[in-house]
Amino acid sequence: MTAILIDGKIFAADIRARVADHVARLKQDHGLTPGLAVVLVGEDPASQVYVRNKGKQTKEVGMTSFEHCLPADTPEAELLALIDRLNAAPAVHGILVQLPLPDHIDADKVINAIDPAKDVDGFHILNVGRLATGQKAMVPCTPLGCLMMLRDRLGSLSGKRAVVVGRSNIVGKPMAQLLLRDSATVTVAHSRTQDLPAVCRGADILVAAVGRPAMIPGGWIKPGATVIDVGINRVPAPEKGEGKTRLVGDVDFETAVEVAGAITPVPGGVGPMTIACLLANTVTACCRDSGLPEPE
Ligand code: NDP
Repeated sequence: MTAILIDGKIFAADIRARVADHVARLKQDHGLTPGLAVVLVGEDPASQVYVRNKGKQTKEVGMTSFEHCLPADTPEAELLALIDRLNAAPAVHGILVQLPLPDHIDADKVINAIDPAKDVDGFHILNVGRLATGQKAMVPCTPLGCLMMLRDRLGSLSGKRAVVVGRSNIVGKPMAQLLLRDSATVTVAHSRTQDLPAVCRGADILVAAVGRPAMIPGGWIKPGATVIDVGINRVPAPEKGEGKTRLVGDVDFETAVEVAGAITPVPGGVGPMTIACLLANTVTACCRDSGLPEPE
């Protein structure tokens, strides 16, 4: 058997098109332009690429992009003062602080300083609590993208056995909450889980969010399962030339594709969904701020 490939690029393009459409209507009917502010502290090359992409895609869907690139030695108080100004700015509907932050800055303090209504990453403790208690929340972008792909593939998730490998605050835990909200039976596995292969083999839905290249082989996957690979790992690729690298997921794609019913590739699976969901969250924040109906 060869698994169906879940193409995140196509999904993401569809979300961006719907966001662009909604933005155009907000402008035309209400004179509103959603605005997203992205804050980067330091010169981490991967973060710089993410921030550039976010800015570019924000503008492409017709929203306003505010980019704040601060030096690595920016004092915490200065960053908090910027967050305060963005919280108060009417043209800014979404605020994202690119993680990781330099060690001298308390990331929790910064995230919790963001107005929860503008917290388009969904990391503010109030949004985390709202999601966990089934209230209207801003939902973290990567797990939201995974959920959309799962619903599209499987329809109802009710009663399905889901295993999330990884318990981080940004992926694993919110993913588990979203699956639970959709009435899946959820197991969260992590580095202390015993007999991880057996736990994974029980999953109708397997979400891998670990950060270890190809650690989940096909032999750990239940035949026909839907596999969502969140991992993004850069590994050496000598076949491409000396010093070259390539991206792989947490799932060993070659063996998994023979067993799974459907699987997301890396790259081109979950990755493209994250920014698309960020744009969608910004439109949602703008609509909520203005008391307008939210996008579906
Ligand atoms: P973290 O490092 O924060 O969390 C990793 C989790 O994996 C932890 O809960 C850890 O367990 C668990 N873990 C580590 N080793 C093992 C093991 N041997 N067996 C079982 N569990 C293990 O990572 P993130 O959640 O931030 O990211 C996970 C991956 O997803 C990374 O590759 C990252 O690059 C990628 N990612 C992709 C995004 C996208 O847009 N596609 C967005 C965000 C992340 P414990 O808690 O016990 O230490």
